[in-house]
Amino acid sequence: MKIPFVDLQTQYANIASEIIPAVESVMKRGAFILGEEVEAFEEAFAEFCGAKYCVGVGSGCDALLWALKACGIGPGDEVITAANTYIATVLAISYAGARPVLVDCREDSFQIDPSAVRKAVTPRTKAVIPVHLYGQSADMDAIAAIAEEYHLVVIEDAAQAHGAEYRGLRCGKMGRAGCFSFYPGKNLGAYGDGGAIVTDDEEVAGQARMFRNYGQSRKYYHDIVGWNSRLDTMQAAVLGVKLPRLSGWNDARRRHADRYRELLDSAGVIPPSETPGNRHVYHLFVIRSTRRDELLADLSARGIGCGIHYPIPVHLQKAYRDLGYSAGDFPVAERLAAEILSLPIFPELTEEQIEYVCRAVREFVERTHSA
Ligand SMILES: *Cc1c(COP(=O)(O)O)cnc(C)c1O
Repeated sequence: MKIPFVDLQTQYANIASEIIPAVESVMKRGAFILGEEVEAFEEAFAEFCGAKYCVGVGSGCDALLWALKACGIGPGDEVITAANTYIATVLAISYAGARPVLVDCREDSFQIDPSAVRKAVTPRTKAVIPVHLYGQSADMDAIAAIAEEYHLVVIEDAAQAHGAEYRGLRCGKMGRAGCFSFYPGKNLGAYGDGGAIVTDDEEVAGQARMFRNYGQSRKYYHDIVGWNSRLDTMQAAVLGVKLPRLSGWNDARRRHADRYRELLDSAGVIPPSETPGNRHVYHLFVIRSTRRDELLADLSARGIGCGIHYPIPVHLQKAYRDLGYSAGDFPVAERLAAEILSLPIFPELTEEQIEYVCRAVREFVERTHSA
């Protein structure tokens, strides 16, 4: 059996009859930039998140950059985020001109450690970016308390958490701004790049809207130094077809995660935990194993697509040597980087596929245990 890590082809086959006319309609009208589809999707996605505004942009990385700039973050400011995030979170801070300050994560949830955030605050700290990594919300009550105490802006990196909830609130709705990616493999994915910022703050929405479209307030009137970073009209048409299915897809991911946990119970690997108050949407299903590299090789040889998210924490990446961190600075993030393994998870995953993966994991553990 061959099991892909994500299966976008099966998903497409299921929705092609709606995708094709939606995309064709854009082509027939010959209106390819912003316009009707983008506005309709922005409205629908804002409503989905429970937010007032949504601004569609070119990517998740851009969403973070425009959110930071729209919140007035720039040179001289420090922005705190997690060392185990995807590089894009940190790149956005750099491109805004601010200094990234990294902190460790919690071992139980993989999420940014609020007590580490508190310790990292300096007089220059202006913002914190909690990352809802793997599809589960960060500890937002603790982050909000710290933000209030030190007057920090909270910008959520919700690029892996479309539809995830924390104490009944959707991810993206809890900070000054929430940033999403529509990279094809995300829980809500386009057929190319795309992203969005959601916010209840009219001024942040207005600034983001200008940044994404050359800084113009109206055609050929440029009020700020913006850039070209718009959500593509055809991508918005695709996202408009997919959004009504997102909740059902997230439910399916949650069922698969429960089944994985059942079948991996006392199998010698640590399955991910769902912390209280959270509704995890399992963008990734990340287990831990002390023989991770061997397990990865073994599963790959059996045709099972796996991944490591991420093998090198940001503070040990070459690009960020200048920040002055070294090995040992964030022991939890470093230990996790050596032990984490993402198993296949996508809505269309079948019971048979889950059983095959779990049997392979169990056999590996039994074999290596007795060896
Ligand atoms: C995917 C992702 C991003 C970046 O999104 P792009 O659309 O690829 O630019 C940012 N942060 C996290 C946590 C992500 O997973």
